Amino acid sequence: MAVIGGGVAGLTAAYDLARTDAFDVHVYEASGELGGLAAGFKGRAAWEWPLEKFYHHLFTNDDAIINLTKEIGAGHLLEIHRPTTVMHYQGRNYPFDTPARVLRFPHLSLVNKLRMGLIIAWLRYYPWPPWRRYDKLLADAWLERWMGPTSYRMLWQPMLEGKFGPHYREVNLAWFWARIYKRTPQLGYYRGGFQAFVDALARAAEQSGARIFTRTPVQRVTSQEGGGWTLHLADRTEFYDKVLCTVSPDLMARMAPELPESYLAQLRSLKSMG
Ligand SMILES: Cc1cc2nc3c(=O)[nH]c(=O)nc-3n(C[C@H](O)[C@H](O)[C@H](O)COP(=O)(O)OP(=O)(O)OC[C@H]3O[C@@H](n4cnc5c(N)ncnc54)[C@H](O)[C@@H]3O)c2cc1C
Repeated sequence: MAVIGGGVAGLTAAYDLARTDAFDVHVYEASGELGGLAAGFKGRAAWEWPLEKFYHHLFTNDDAIINLTKEIGAGHLLEIHRPTTVMHYQGRNYPFDTPARVLRFPHLSLVNKLRMGLIIAWLRYYPWPPWRRYDKLLADAWLERWMGPTSYRMLWQPMLEGKFGPHYREVNLAWFWARIYKRTPQLGYYRGGFQAFVDALARAAEQSGARIFTRTPVQRVTSQEGGGWTLHLADRTEFYDKVLCTVSPDLMARMAPELPESYLAQLRSLKSMG
């Protein structure tokens, strides 16, 4: 079986599948390093740890990844801290992690602060969140409407823009709600950065029998007569009974154009960055 992509999803799948002994698992990763969006880099050789390309943390209720970390013997890497969450406004940082601190923020009127607080409290504590409906609503429009334009544009829009760039208006409310609903005051980090977790996961997958090929982009996937799939690599082709693809939907549609048209249309309709 081939797994395309050596990010966290591909490596976790490889680890799980290899342990079943039902498959010989080969992971193909295009870049020279594993970890995908969660990978780290070393700006200088002297850096003790790699730094994530994008800032990452875990919530302390992210049970799946925390349990996986322990299962692969990397529990000692996990550190839990209580960082101070701040809002950066006009060159200054304002602590924003308790209602009292929000009330002390000097650049919003009391009415705007109360309105913002009510909306955040509603997203966080309403016990029957209609998250399926949130999936159809846009965070930008919804927050501006209910929180009010002043607070939204001053504090929340810059955060959405910072994370999603020019696509920030297209982000659905379910994403924003999940960040508020699930957030824990304490956050988890890996000693050695997320790259340390990725490396431990890759080791665990290999110890379970998976083989990992970096710098090996899959160019195309085609079906074989009689079943199975052909992976077209730069210098060779390989044959597999099954292929698990963890790259972005649009890339997958381009990589496997033989998939049924209705499925390709679904893949193309899923927007992703990168
Ligand atoms: C700015 C930012 C902040 C984030 N913060 C957090 C956070 O704090 N906490 C959290 O839990 N999550 C966070 N995430 C989300 C998290 O990084 C992703 O959910 C996760 O890393 C996705 O893993 P993946 O394996 O699904 O995909 P990816 O990481 O995208 O992996 C896909 C892999 O496929 C490879 N690939 C692509 N094309 C090919 C090809 N043709 N052949 C072979 N390989 C190929 C890529 O190189 C990549 O390694 C954040 C994401 C971003 C962008």
